[in-house]
Amino acid sequence: MKKIFELDPHVADLIAAGEVVERPASVVKELLENSIDAGAGVITVELQAGGLTFIRVTDNGCGIAPEDVKIAFLRHATSKLRGAEGLEAIGTLGFRGEALAAIASVSRIELLTREPGSQEGVSLSIEAGIVSGVSPAGCPEGTTIIVRDLFFNTPARLKFMKSDRAESSAVASTVLRCALSRPDVSIRFIRDGKMEYHTPGDSRVDSCIYSLFGREFPAGLVPAESSDEAISVSGFVSTPSAARGNRSYQFFFVNGRPIQSRTLQAALEQAYANTLPSGRYPSCVLYITAGFSSVDVNVHPAKTEVKFVSDKQVFDGVYYAALGAITGIREQAEVSTNPASAAVGGVPGASRATRGGGFRSMYADEFRATYGAGSFREARVERKAERGLGDYTEVRDAAGVQLAIHDGAGIADAPGNSQHIIHSPRSSGGFPEFRVIGEAMNAYIVVEYHGSVWFIDKHAAHERIHFDALRRSDFVPMSQALITPVVCRQGQEDVSTLLDNAELLESLGFTVESFGDDAVAVRSIPAEIRIADVEPALSEICAALKHGGTPTPAQRDEIFRAIACKAAIKAGKSSDTRELETLASRVLSGEAAQCPHGRPVTFEITKAALDRSFKRT
Ligand code: ADP
Ligand code: MG
Repeated sequence: MKKIFELDPHVADLIAAGEVVERPASVVKELLENSIDAGAGVITVELQAGGLTFIRVTDNGCGIAPEDVKIAFLRHATSKLRGAEGLEAIGTLGFRGEALAAIASVSRIELLTREPGSQEGVSLSIEAGIVSGVSPAGCPEGTTIIVRDLFFNTPARLKFMKSDRAESSAVASTVLRCALSRPDVSIRFIRDGKMEYHTPGDSRVDSCIYSLFGREFPAGLVPAESSDEAISVSGFVSTPSAARGNRSYQFFFVNGRPIQSRTLQAALEQAYANTLPSGRYPSCVLYITAGFSSVDVNVHPAKTEVKFVSDKQVFDGVYYAALGAITGIREQAEVSTNPASAAVGGVPGASRATRGGGFRSMYADEFRATYGAGSFREARVERKAERGLGDYTEVRDAAGVQLAIHDGAGIADAPGNSQHIIHSPRSSGGFPEFRVIGEAMNAYIVVEYHGSVWFIDKHAAHERIHFDALRRSDFVPMSQALITPVVCRQGQEDVSTLLDNAELLESLGFTVESFGDDAVAVRSIPAEIRIADVEPALSEICAALKHGGTPTPAQRDEIFRAIACKAAIKAGKSSDTRELETLASRVLSGEAAQCPHGRPVTFEITKAALDRSFKRT
């Protein structure tokens, strides 16, 4: 029996729309890309609420010919690609011919467009993919597209939308990336009637960054550059002291396209190895230019990822650019009598810094020539710790390190411990009789208990106890109000995540309030958390909540883990005897078997094992 039929084109469009148009931000991204491809010098994006009811993008680009307007909305209709050979050398942002068709299939669109020099323009309305009217129209040169009632005919998709605030922040960060990608285009973003961004379009990266971020971000940036035959990199990277608690200010552009890439991220961060403690991330605005043949842009429906022919080449390009820039700062710090001036570089350009007294950033070629290709290790080892980070003790649990551990109080294997059994003491009911012998390495409590010597990882133990407390439904946070609120800059999307989850945060002891678009003011924090840990803790919480909606139990656990880790007493700091005793007693009465990351909390050497080691048996 015949079972296979070709899909109705409308259904096919809906399916494709699912890939291209996930949320209002994806609509804005596609429309902005079209305007940029149309050669516009000025683009305006307007948005109401979260963009589900109203998005308007206006440009002064090349417009669409009357005979083409309907065709533009057909699937796989594009003016940017003719034959397969064109795929090898795509110079435009769009090329798949899918966006307009996809957007039109899930919304109500009005298009007004006029080619420069034409007497008359044309207007077209289209609803759920069906054209409902085309007529000549008087309108300015360029194109205006209004998208209303996004997803009105796909209720399932609507359910996945986050709050208006979250959707609108996602749009804002899309516009920001697009604006940053093209300093030569003036982009305005008007949200609910208010002008949010307005880039000058004067082709200067520095003025573009200023207009989007204000003063603070550029103040921590220095110019970075590198090039070889295949790839050139230019832009700005942050000084180590301007590192942040998350990666939301890492911006990479490949041939003018905002790109997310682990390779690029890793290359940037590698340049800061030994300069930043873990949990702190560099920021950047880096433009990578590569020959068409060394990048494949056709690997992702939303075109946010690319494939490099040689990952190593781009890795090196970004790595050396960043390394050259921060090595320049270090050298400056060493010669300068006023170390503060070293960090002033950056925007607006190196010129100011140079005038300020000898700041120079070392570019990759120069760097190679000075240090030689083989001596990076040395160069890095020599690098002095940044001011203020010198005595930083890294105590975060290695969450990535997973040992094979069975649940509960069972027996576990840990590499390198063939001799000894690791397990947690069983609860014996009453108060355990034990003797604290002392503390080793400021990290391990050494206890004699039940004929064995026990080692207790004090950080892990405390973390576990705290984690379990947080998980209890009757948990009441001990919160400390801050006299001066801590302002955490987190990037728009993270800010809305935090505000959307304000109640959950409150239940954990954090009071957060909105503080402009890209910051929150923290008015109170859990009593056990240090002020310095507030921003990293919030960043981790944001990371856990990334996927929107009501947090799942797993997401809540991740948040609890982050807080417990920050609140726990640190390894490397000595504790007083009472603290050690209290912890030991709680652990030995069975309260903590493993740390929340799954690492063991206790380690036992039995008397028999000791005796065997001394050949006493
Ligand atoms: P693609 O951008 O991949 O070609 P789209 O569906 O986004 O596909 O757009 C289809 C075509 O419509 C484009 O190739 C272009 O010719 C035309 N177009 C879309 N938006 C604009 C615009 N703002 N100005 C001029 N032409 C446009
Ligand atoms: Mg397009």
